[in-house]
Amino acid sequence: MTVIRVAIVGLGKIARDQHISAIAETAGIELAATVSRNASINGIRHFATLDELLDRMPDIDAVALCTPPQGRQAQAAAALKAGKHVLLEKPPGATVSELTPLIAEARQTGHTLFATWHSRFAPAVEAARAFLAGRQIRSVVVEWKEDVRVWHPGQAWIWEPGGFGVFDPGINALAILTRILPRPFFLTEAELSYPGNRAAPIAANLAFSDGTGLPILAEFDWRQTGPQTWDIRVETDAGRLTLSRGGSRLDHDDRTLVHEQQAEYRGIYQRFVELITSRVSDVDLSPLLHVADAFMLGRRRDVEPFIED
Ligand code: NAP
Repeated sequence: MTVIRVAIVGLGKIARDQHISAIAETAGIELAATVSRNASINGIRHFATLDELLDRMPDIDAVALCTPPQGRQAQAAAALKAGKHVLLEKPPGATVSELTPLIAEARQTGHTLFATWHSRFAPAVEAARAFLAGRQIRSVVVEWKEDVRVWHPGQAWIWEPGGFGVFDPGINALAILTRILPRPFFLTEAELSYPGNRAAPIAANLAFSDGTGLPILAEFDWRQTGPQTWDIRVETDAGRLTLSRGGSRLDHDDRTLVHEQQAEYRGIYQRFVELITSRVSDVDLSPLLHVADAFMLGRRRDVEPFIED
């Protein structure tokens, strides 16, 4: 098989923290170019804009869009139109409906569109799904609490409309939940806390249920200092299942079933290679739908302004 030549678009935090090394560690794909307004990598061809890349480097097979969600639709549309396979960082778009023409274009042209949910590639997620498949589930509690100053320093876009605010990390919990719970669920109540000086929420309290009346509560908060919390606790007829550390550890009551280092992005690129090889797409919008519902149903609460420094 020929090696897939991919270009990273947007050389920000996640491109540098994860994508570059994950591509290097994945068979069947190589980093052939970068697109950035102000950065480059030694030894890798560089372009200032996506249009320049598409114009001047026709042998690129795929692009990985690591830019903020606002504006990603136009980039994905241009890349698909130019005959490239497209990997979308999460969240896949700033709205739900902007994905529809992309899905249609990929299907018509036989190119791969991959809406990634990196948290689903965390090492304990599939074991949690398997455990819950045969169980009666009594309740679910999600706590996703982190320090925005540590994880998103200086990211102005994240506080703007389409930047998602605390749903930027919160959607990772929803990506896991939609994968591990055996039945679809839906939002019943939401309260979103907005700092007076920001256009996106800094915290959210959510209640969901499913067709059986299962209570699911989720608390997302960006004001947590000290230890960070990315936990999902599920009470079942066979005891408590705790998926913690963002999906890298799984405990059943007092017994640890999985506890491994994260290698989420290698899983993402392995899957991207498989999808391209099979000429299919993978776009699951269910986590994004829950976030859209929260903005639709959520009661707004005003909280103190967020000042970064
Ligand atoms: P970031 O550090 O702000 O990087 C985004 C990059 O996109 C910028 O460095 C910039 O690259 C480019 N860009 C293009 N248009 C932009 C604009 N109008 N405003 C700001 N940047 C623009 O953000 P990030 O943390 O890497 O997040 C990017 C995406 O990855 C988001 O969807 C996020 O949810 C997702 N993600 C982030 C993390 C994380 O830990 N941070 C984890 C998983 C997923 P150039 O300057 O090179 O053009």
